[in-house]
Amino acid sequence: MRKRLVISVSSLIFAAVAAVFSFSVFFFTSSTLNQGRAEAHHMATIYAHAFEDGQPIDATVFPDMFGLAILKEDGSLVNEWGSNLPLDYTVLPEVETAMSEGEGEAVKYYDGSFKLASCCLQTPDPSGNTYYVYCHVGVELYGPAFVNFCVSSALVSVAIIVLGIILAYVMSGLSFKPIAASKVRFRELVENRPLTPFPKPHDKPSEEYYREVDEASKALLAARKSLNDEKEGIRNILDSVSDLIILMGEGEDIAFLNKAAAKAFRLDVSKFHSLPSLGFPSEVEQTIRKHRKVEQTYDLNNKTYALRGYMTSGGYVIALADISFEVNGEKLRSSFFSAASHELKTPLTSIMGQAEILSLTPHPDALDPSIDSIEKASARMYRLIEDMLSLSRIEFGHREVKGPVSLAKAAEEAKGALNFLMEEKGVTVMINGDFVYPINYDDAYSLIKNLLENGIRYGHKRGHVWLNFLPNGFEVKDDGAGIGEPDKQRVFERFYRVEQSRDKASGGTGLGLAIVKHTMLSYGGKVTLDSTLGEGSVFTCVFPSVKKGK
Ligand code: ADP
Repeated sequence: MRKRLVISVSSLIFAAVAAVFSFSVFFFTSSTLNQGRAEAHHMATIYAHAFEDGQPIDATVFPDMFGLAILKEDGSLVNEWGSNLPLDYTVLPEVETAMSEGEGEAVKYYDGSFKLASCCLQTPDPSGNTYYVYCHVGVELYGPAFVNFCVSSALVSVAIIVLGIILAYVMSGLSFKPIAASKVRFRELVENRPLTPFPKPHDKPSEEYYREVDEASKALLAARKSLNDEKEGIRNILDSVSDLIILMGEGEDIAFLNKAAAKAFRLDVSKFHSLPSLGFPSEVEQTIRKHRKVEQTYDLNNKTYALRGYMTSGGYVIALADISFEVNGEKLRSSFFSAASHELKTPLTSIMGQAEILSLTPHPDALDPSIDSIEKASARMYRLIEDMLSLSRIEFGHREVKGPVSLAKAAEEAKGALNFLMEEKGVTVMINGDFVYPINYDDAYSLIKNLLENGIRYGHKRGHVWLNFLPNGFEVKDDGAGIGEPDKQRVFERFYRVEQSRDKASGGTGLGLAIVKHTMLSYGGKVTLDSTLGEGSVFTCVFPSVKKGK
């Protein structure tokens, strides 16, 4: 770099000196010519005066290459003296100019380094007749004076060039010193080595430069330290959490894994590891890279983890939270739920049978309310147990799907089962269209029955319920009381019932919509609710489209 700078500066100096030298040569030659011209004019004037005064011409005093001629008014020669004189004066431009303007000048090439500077002047003879005096002198352009001039100029030029190169070399050395020192400093900063002090500054700007770089280096070191402290802090926090955390960089190498992860995967944290070596299925990484996140369960060492992965700026993070307790608890709860329901069903069936026998056997009238109450309570309990069993079947049991079924058929059957309720409330149920879908028939029946029953149960007396089949499912619409905003969010929860429904002892169990929601979810579909208080409700069930070949 420095060499290049010295070469560039030297070339510039050389070009400048060469330009000045050429200009000086040009200036020298043109001033020599001007001198010759002036001399020719001067000599012509002297001899014109001499001719006018009638003095004789003494040619013996003429210098080399000097020529003089006296011409008549028409340009014909009267007399001539000296050397290099032309044969025909009338063709000379300076004579022509003198004839029209009184005087004329010219410079002509003569030989080698010589030129002739000539001058022609109009002049009267002693009697007043018009004559012309022609005179030329020799001008040596490239003689010893020129050589002397060139040699001295060349010497000065060489001296300037050498001085310039030396100066460029010294100055560049000084300017590059801070750059060289900075190079060392940057390397030390990058490699985290102790800093070498800067050399003594040679001038004010370099002193300022060293000071600024020193300050910047200190700021950088402080920032790096606080970053490291922060990193250490974050690592300590990550090490203290029980979740397994793995930080990935761009490639497959693990950038960091916390103590819990190292323990679970039985790894030494001080060594480098790659994600595949942990035995993760490659789909985890592929999904994160494609969808920027992943959420799934992951089994490791007989435990179940909730795996969450998401992209970060420089790679991605995988966090595994142990959910074995929740999963086992849920399984336990569900199997308890189902076992208890089964166990309750047997004695309940027996109570219901006994109550029926009691009602048919002759008995005192005073027992009627009690028998009636036993029948109603046990029927309600039976429905509750049925719903609880349905829900646990949907969540954990396998329901067979034999092929596409007509949901309109299931709807007609459900409508038939609800006849007594329709008559009791004077509600009209209308079924429009059909939707054929690969679904377990009992599921289709229970979906529609639950929604129709709610529409009738929570509708006005003599109200209407419409079941409209859609291209991808169906909707159940009523013109009943509707559901308010806060309840809308919660009616699909188990045992959640809107306040008035509880008071009215409507006969519901609080599980109907939870059954609808979980049935839809188990088919990959969903149920949505659109309702306005006082106007009615619309429950829409949408199924995913069936893939070809299924
Ligand atoms: P339930 O057995 O009590 O009917 P659901 O889960 O089927 O339980 O419904 C939950 C609650 O949502 C009901 O108690 C009722 O208050 C409200 N609800 C359900 N369907 C309707 C409807 N079509 N119109 C008004 N309210 C309804």
